[in-house]
Amino acid sequence: MSANGLAPLSQAHSEDLIPWVIEARDEIAGGDQSPIAVSRPGPLFRVSVAPEGRAMPPYSVGDLLEWHGETGERREFSIASVPGGRALDLIVRRVELPVGGMGAASWALTADNAPHRINARIRAYPNYHEAAGHGPLLAVAAGSGWGGVRAHILRAMQQGRPVWLIYGERGPSDDLSLFTEMRRWQAEGGIKRLDLALSRSADQQAPKYAQDVVARNAASIADFLGEGGTITICGATAMGDGVHGALEAALPAGWIETARASERWRSATFLKAARVSLPLRRRTRPRKTPTGEEQDTDRGF
Ligand SMILES: Cc1cc2nc3c(=O)[nH]c(=O)nc-3n(C[C@H](O)[C@H](O)[C@H](O)COP(=O)(O)OP(=O)(O)OC[C@H]3O[C@@H](n4cnc5c(N)ncnc54)[C@H](O)[C@@H]3O)c2cc1C
Repeated sequence: MSANGLAPLSQAHSEDLIPWVIEARDEIAGGDQSPIAVSRPGPLFRVSVAPEGRAMPPYSVGDLLEWHGETGERREFSIASVPGGRALDLIVRRVELPVGGMGAASWALTADNAPHRINARIRAYPNYHEAAGHGPLLAVAAGSGWGGVRAHILRAMQQGRPVWLIYGERGPSDDLSLFTEMRRWQAEGGIKRLDLALSRSADQQAPKYAQDVVARNAASIADFLGEGGTITICGATAMGDGVHGALEAALPAGWIETARASERWRSATFLKAARVSLPLRRRTRPRKTPTGEEQDTDRGF
C-alpha cells in the first residue's frame, strides 16, 4: 500500500487498461498568472471521457481514473461523476511549465494539440468510497479537490441528504464558470449552503481559504452535522490539515474518531508535488518525469 492508501498496480489490474475518448473539455477557472519559475498551477478544466467502443467499466463513488502515458508514467484523477453514466467527468488542473510546456498528464488531458484519446483504467480507492449513514453531508474542498467531493455531493443529492459545500479556489473573482454548477445546485435545493473562499479576494474581511470558513462557522457546522453527519474532504494536504484542525475545534470531543470508525469521514488529501528544476523546452508529446523515472503517487492537486 502506498502513502496515499492506493494499492500498487498489479499485473491483473493492468488488463483493465483501455482506450478512452476525450469527448468534452471546458476551462472552468483561470490559472495562476505569476511568472513560471519551475511550474505553476494553470487553469482548471472539466474533462469528459468515455471508453472507446465499449461499455463503462464498473466503479464506485470516490474511485479514480488512472491515466497511463506512452512511456509508462501514471497519474490519478478523482472521478467527479457518479456511476450510471456513459462518460466520466474529471476536474483537471493543468500544470504549466516554462516556454509553453505542461506536465505529462496535463498535456494529454487539457492541451488543444493533444490527441482526443488516452489510455486509462479505473482504479478502486476504497478509503474514499461513499460515506456510511444517511445524515447530512459537509463537503470541503479546494482547487481540483472539487473533482473528489463532486461525486459525493451528487450521490448525497440523489439520496435527498442536506449538503453544505465549502470550497476554496485561487483568484479574486467569484464569477468563474466553475461556480455556476454549484450555484445551480444550491438554487435547486440540492446544496443547502454554499460558502466560497477566494484566496486573492480584494475583500480583506472575506475568508481566504476553505479552512477559514470552517473555523468561522464552527457552531453552525456542529449544529448541521449533529451526531450522525458525514464529512468529505478533498484537496492539498495543507488545506486538509487546516480543515481537520478547525473541525476538531468545532465538533464535540471524539466526534471525528467516531465518524472515522463508522466510515462517516472520507478524506483524500495529497502532498503538493515537489518543485524540481526542469529543462526549458516546449512539450510536443508526452514524456517521462523530469528525473526520467516514474514518480510516486503522492503528488499535488
Ligand atoms: C489520489 C490522487 C488523486 C488525484 N486527483 C486529481 C484530480 O482529480 N485532478 C487533478 O488535477 N489532479 C489530481 N491529482 C494529481 C494528478 O495525479 C497529477 O499529479 C497532476 O495532474 C500533475 O500531473 P502531470 O503529469 O500533468 O505533471 P507532472 O509531469 O507529474 O509534473 C510536471 C512538473 O509539475 C510539477 N507539479 C505537479 N503538480 C503541480 C501543481 N499542482 N502545481 C504546480 N506544479 C506542479 C511537478 O513537480 C513537476 O515539476 C491526484 C493525485 C492523486 C495522488
